[in-house]
Amino acid sequence: MSTTDPQPAAAPSHLDYDVVVVGGGPSGLVTARELATAGARVALIEESAELGGQYYKRRRGQVLARHGDFRPAGTALIAQVRQAGVQVHTNRLVWGTTPDRALLTTSTTSPDAVRFTARAIVVGTGATEHVLPFPGWQLPGVITPGHAMHLATTDVVRVGQRVLIAGSGPFLLPVACAVLASGSEVAAVVEAGRPLRPSARALGAAAHPGMLGELARYLTVLARHRVPILQGAHVSESTAGPDGRLRTVSIATTTGNRSFDVDTLATAVRFRPATELLQLLEVECSLDPELGVPIPDTDARGATSAPGVYAVGEARGIAGSKGAQVRGWLAAATIREELGLSAPPERAVRRYERRSRRLDDFSRLTSDLYAHDREPMLAMPDHTMVCRCESVTAGEIRTAARLGWNDRNGVKGATRAGMGPCQGRECASTVSCLVSACTGEPVGCQPARMPVKPIPVRAAMAMEERQL
Ligand SMILES: Cc1cc2nc3c(=O)[nH]c(=O)nc-3n(C[C@H](O)[C@H](O)[C@H](O)COP(=O)(O)OP(=O)(O)OC[C@H]3O[C@@H](n4cnc5c(N)ncnc54)[C@H](O)[C@@H]3O)c2cc1C
Repeated sequence: MSTTDPQPAAAPSHLDYDVVVVGGGPSGLVTARELATAGARVALIEESAELGGQYYKRRRGQVLARHGDFRPAGTALIAQVRQAGVQVHTNRLVWGTTPDRALLTTSTTSPDAVRFTARAIVVGTGATEHVLPFPGWQLPGVITPGHAMHLATTDVVRVGQRVLIAGSGPFLLPVACAVLASGSEVAAVVEAGRPLRPSARALGAAAHPGMLGELARYLTVLARHRVPILQGAHVSESTAGPDGRLRTVSIATTTGNRSFDVDTLATAVRFRPATELLQLLEVECSLDPELGVPIPDTDARGATSAPGVYAVGEARGIAGSKGAQVRGWLAAATIREELGLSAPPERAVRRYERRSRRLDDFSRLTSDLYAHDREPMLAMPDHTMVCRCESVTAGEIRTAARLGWNDRNGVKGATRAGMGPCQGRECASTVSCLVSACTGEPVGCQPARMPVKPIPVRAAMAMEERQL
């Protein structure tokens, strides 16, 4: 925590601002800076000790002294936020909402209870990695690409001796390059889609020369290290050696199976917007048919169906760190108007709108190019662990669905899948897909519930004591 951030002990029970921004990633930082610069009283709430989010994660202590700043643009952006007079509340989790649209928060270092109210609420809670289970996904040595990236670039440690990168999405390539740079061998990149296959759709990439250049740089690094890229392939199983740690990963391809001996597997199938708070704020969402998760319905500037509630960054849909910042800027422009503050110059608004449209086009293009058939992955064997919190297998979920417990709550009640500490954040979409596959009927996603992330019981009791 920065020394300038409010200390938990001094926190009053209720704080009121013009705007509360939830999430100190690129989108939340830009929104907060723009609004505070325009004269609004802005609070920025971040559950981590440091601002920056996933893209601008900070190096600390000896790692910072030894390896220097990582992504200095993030350091500059954070400094601008503080200089603009934003009230920064790090180490503070927003875990719920009230019917009158207050945000319920607790410190992550000492359970307290502070209610935040504001004329506008901006939700920039980012995304989480979407992992589709397979037998052995819970073995030590299996991590996500985001975690591999964190180890390689923020902690600056070697990710593993021999690492396999698998899943789907454009993020796998920079992760593979960062893992190589950390001193690890990369056994292969396994991609479920076929984005590098020549196609009419791929010609659309010519409209984004900057992104093509980035792609070419990653492919050059991987070719130099002779890292194979397997397309149209997915992890079917991972098994442990005698020490109980990951030893072998089996890959299903269209031409047969392959296996790799590795000590680390970094795997996830794209990102999934973190929309729990938006759902609690009664924002209308549409179901993403591929990921099986709700995506908030917004206008081009992030205004949602709930008055005064805005979604920015990847909480609004996956768009990368540049897209997150552009979305933050545009939401701030609308909120400035709503609050009667000075409007940004019209030319700047048009420029940001153009950038936003281009980045959205690029996101759609990547979604198309990385599209893949999820059925083989969802055909996981019955013994696959799906809900890790409550140890519920794919077979138990299928049995419950066939016995008639085939709606969202039915399968949950019959198996306890989604009732553990993560409240289904990890498994709910897989459970829905498995039940749909059994019944042939679509199953909606599990609705968000409070607390959106685990909190100490003492924090919930503090709400009662303070009569919030
Ligand atoms: C694990 C992971 C690693 C990633 N690594 C990279 C990378 O190395 N390079 C890259 O280009 N892209 C990366 N991405 C993609 C990246 O998320 C974005 O491009 C960019 O950071 C999105 O910015 P954002 O502001 O929307 O969200 P984020 O950067 O994710 O910021 C959201 C912030 O909200 C906070 N938050 C969430 N919920 C709450 C709550 N209830 N209360 C308080 N605070 C909350 C989080 O702690 C986080 O700091 C990664 C994504 C993930 C999920």
